[in-house]
Amino acid sequence: MAVWEVFAMRHFQPNRRPAARQEADDLPGFGKPPCRELPTEDPDGFREAVVGWFDAVGRPYPWRETTDPYAILVSELMLQQTRVETVLERGYFERWMRRFPGVGELADAPDEEILKLWEGLGYYRRARHLREAARAVVSRHGGLFPRDPAEIRALPGVGDYTAGAILAFAFDRAAPMIDGNVARVLARLFDFNGSIEGPAGRRQLAEWSGRLTDPRRARRFQSGLMEIGQRLCKVRRPQCPDCPVAGFCAARAPEHLPVKRERARIEEVAEHVGYFRGEGDRVFLCVESGPRRSGLWRLPPVSAEEHGDAEPLLRFAYSITRYRVWLHVHAMPASALPRGEGRWVSRAELESVALGSPYRRALRSLVADAGFNGR
Ligand code: SF4
Repeated sequence: MAVWEVFAMRHFQPNRRPAARQEADDLPGFGKPPCRELPTEDPDGFREAVVGWFDAVGRPYPWRETTDPYAILVSELMLQQTRVETVLERGYFERWMRRFPGVGELADAPDEEILKLWEGLGYYRRARHLREAARAVVSRHGGLFPRDPAEIRALPGVGDYTAGAILAFAFDRAAPMIDGNVARVLARLFDFNGSIEGPAGRRQLAEWSGRLTDPRRARRFQSGLMEIGQRLCKVRRPQCPDCPVAGFCAARAPEHLPVKRERARIEEVAEHVGYFRGEGDRVFLCVESGPRRSGLWRLPPVSAEEHGDAEPLLRFAYSITRYRVWLHVHAMPASALPRGEGRWVSRAELESVALGSPYRRALRSLVADAGFNGR
């Protein structure tokens, strides 16, 4: 019998269920175990259920094997907007920590190198924030990561959530800590029907998080709650029968929670870029100047006048925020080479330059299809 099932037997006693929540339990075809009490009515029991489950089945992520606050900061910034699987399977965290094992190494790192290590994760501002935070630790704290909550919160790129994560995972200190997974779990546990994105909803979540955080085992409690959100309390298909906190959960229709603002509609846009080939194995690249991928290399943009009516060599779509971008890659003569910053890059060099993901994908496809000089 799994350890958390022993917990369930000890803690989930149906006869302790309040009558007021009977109605929720009687909904047909729901599959969710009955709610016996809210987490705030038995915070110790709730913490025990979360920590017990985590101790039994929590995943051994590499950032959980350390209490180094710098490593925790790296993992937290990587995991903002990026799935755990992507960071793990493609080795981003290990590569970064091998190259920049401490704030001293990162503080001196050149732009090109940090962007290359971040390539494919997107939202490149995060990589620069990390370096700015490393520089601040060096200049303000003599290279020693601060322990004071206000000093941690004052580091570049560190918001309330990241500060809470550093306090919990590095120093085992209790602080409110709400990411998307925890927000979803809390909204469902309390059957919260207000928007979690407005100020009132955010305040309410912070209040619950602050009251429930385990003061003695903050690291394991916060890890457990996040992992319940990630693995069981899923957005569309919550796995309620397997959930260790089902006995504390008042949600009647969890798949409809949390309530969020209506998402902006996806907009389709077209992007046209040029594939300029030079002598030998070389392709012309220029520097991205937009806010999202600033500093990365890219295929140069071309206007409708420049590319004319000719069929593009390649066309595919990629997503960025609320846009679905159709990228058109046109074969362009050297005479139409754009003015401004750029450079010829050989085939051998291509893998080592920091390149925006859509352009990397386009170049890999062109190289594979036709050989670098083939067309
Ligand atoms: S999976 Fe989510 S909705 Fe289902 S019982 Fe657990 S906390 Fe509640």
